[in-house]
Amino acid sequence: MKVSYSPQLMEESVFRHLNHLERSGYRSDYDEFHSLADPIYELPEDDREIAFEKVNRLFFLEKLKLGDHVLRALEAVGLIPKRKRTTKRSALLQKNQNAELAEEVEEVEELEEANGETGSSEEEQVEEDAVAVAEEEALEPAEENDEVSYDLAREFEERIREVVVKRAINKVDEGSNVLNRVSGNPIIEMRVLASRFSNPEEALDLDAFLIQEFMHAKDMVDPEFDYEDAFIPGNPSVKNLITSRFRLLWNMYVDARLARIGVVSVLPKEARFREFDNFYRKIPDKQRRGIFEGIWLTDKFTHEELLSMATDLDTLMSKYVDPGEISEEERDFIHLQGSPCPLCKFPTYNWVDDPESICDEMVIEAIQIDFPDWESKDGGCDRCIEVYELRAGVG
Ligand SMILES: [Zn+2]
Repeated sequence: MKVSYSPQLMEESVFRHLNHLERSGYRSDYDEFHSLADPIYELPEDDREIAFEKVNRLFFLEKLKLGDHVLRALEAVGLIPKRKRTTKRSALLQKNQNAELAEEVEEVEELEEANGETGSSEEEQVEEDAVAVAEEEALEPAEENDEVSYDLAREFEERIREVVVKRAINKVDEGSNVLNRVSGNPIIEMRVLASRFSNPEEALDLDAFLIQEFMHAKDMVDPEFDYEDAFIPGNPSVKNLITSRFRLLWNMYVDARLARIGVVSVLPKEARFREFDNFYRKIPDKQRRGIFEGIWLTDKFTHEELLSMATDLDTLMSKYVDPGEISEEERDFIHLQGSPCPLCKFPTYNWVDDPESICDEMVIEAIQIDFPDWESKDGGCDRCIEVYELRAGVG
């Protein structure tokens, strides 16, 4: 596996990070950067881009070690085996046979000499190291890695051709994707906002974001998860709803596994439950919590299982609710957003659950003239109820 970073991401991250350091009173890295970057403006125009890229790369990878966030996240999710921090850099250099990088370091050192510039003061370096150690400890799983997970991570590392980290243009653009998934030579593409690299105090948020996204990417290349670009039936709003529920269930599956190895997720469990609550609030409280906990405690899901749970309520209920707890009839009265209205059959987002309780008796009778088998508890969409209110002359 090769890990690479787009020039745009490195440029903006380094720029933001150095500015943040400078504003916080740490000038040495900032000054060093400018001593290398400023003379580039005197080069012929055609040579500038490559020269800037080299300085940005040096600072992103070596001086500010911003790439370490990505490597630590890959380790945390088991896409690469854990390495001893002190040996990682040299191991990485060997592994990628990245002689180019070594050359750059030399070149820059020569440049430094020519400019009479010195590195950062020791005091600052100690402080930065302390932050790095603290971050590392926060990421360290509760249990020691056993051999099985080491071998598994080795397998992923060998199978994945490349991890490309690019700059996202906005928050919506952020996320991970797997290219060449089917060909067996997968490339993980990660898009992340450069601003996430600017403030060392927000490093834990950055790490949690990267871990969450790499977990999804890992599932997508894991044969056991068996990811497929599935066709989701229905009109656009139904598709959106199923996609959102699927995303939520998948996020829960990611969070639960992270919790089991002691890694902090982007959202705490209770916040995820509130999201779940929002989608499934029509399910009675006790059963809703039971389903959530059931999913949380499930060790393994496949893509197919998550998708079918997101698509229809029966699959979800039959998995996690005891048959004795809710009768089939009661289950039919749970009107989830997006299920069809029994009157007009359209996917319904605004349900009137029990019209009898809020409407005139004449409205119920008017509906039953058209739908003799319909009962108030079957409910209806707000538009149908409105139509029958008009028809009954009580609207
Ligand atoms: Zn309707």
